[in-house]
Amino acid sequence: MLRLVALALIVAALPAGAQTRAVAAPCAANPDALGTARVLEVDAQSTPRVGRKHFPATLPLAPQEIVLTFDDGPWPTTTPKVLDALKRECVRATFFLLGQHAEEHPALARRIFAEGHTVAHHTYSHKILTKLPIAAAEAEIDRGIAEDDYAVYGQRRKEPATPFFRFPGFAGTPALLALLNRRGIVVFGADVWASDWNPMTPQEELKLIVGRIEKNRGGIVLFHDTKAQTAAMLPDFLREMKRRGYRVVHVVPAGSRGAIR
Ligand SMILES: [Zn+2]
Repeated sequence: MLRLVALALIVAALPAGAQTRAVAAPCAANPDALGTARVLEVDAQSTPRVGRKHFPATLPLAPQEIVLTFDDGPWPTTTPKVLDALKRECVRATFFLLGQHAEEHPALARRIFAEGHTVAHHTYSHKILTKLPIAAAEAEIDRGIAEDDYAVYGQRRKEPATPFFRFPGFAGTPALLALLNRRGIVVFGADVWASDWNPMTPQEELKLIVGRIEKNRGGIVLFHDTKAQTAAMLPDFLREMKRRGYRVVHVVPAGSRGAIR
């Protein structure tokens, strides 16, 4: 009962119209879980591009708040481990899928969505878009969106259910950024990354990413759910975030009703 009263007080204390919602349920399976502290609605009008590694702005996060993002999946040997670790801690993240991988592993793409995570987009086959004519670049983006959404929702659409996109290799052009903004698609960069494209042990990766997060006091964190070293260190990483007092923020599209299940 006390917990319910506390939750009601938190909800009552939220300012009207704030782009945030309290998360519904405590973590039933694991009372000591890191959990998901709040949900943040994101739209292309107020935050067209986010992540200070490449853009001047990032999401409106408080110190010690983190947004967890995973690129390049779904991948059968590693994504299930990532999902298991997130589930154990009742943490919700955002997955930037490759259309080709969603097409090859649709059940895994659906599992990501079914477990409450945000399904976002990362092109069809990870082409570096700055090397393509703009029409070909847009086609690669659209094919990715279509295959991701077909795998997850059973519908191929030009406009994505979740208008969140990340460029492969963070390689975008002003023309592509303008095009995505016109289409209402938020471009995600990152504030902090694990450099998990470099081979290292899970312990080395854990030390590196925790140090970078501490230095930045939180932010949008980039991992790859296709990397075994990342999947292996994730349980320890989530425990470490809890121990150090960090809070997880789950990003969803503005007006989304599917975020809290
Ligand atoms: Zn990528």
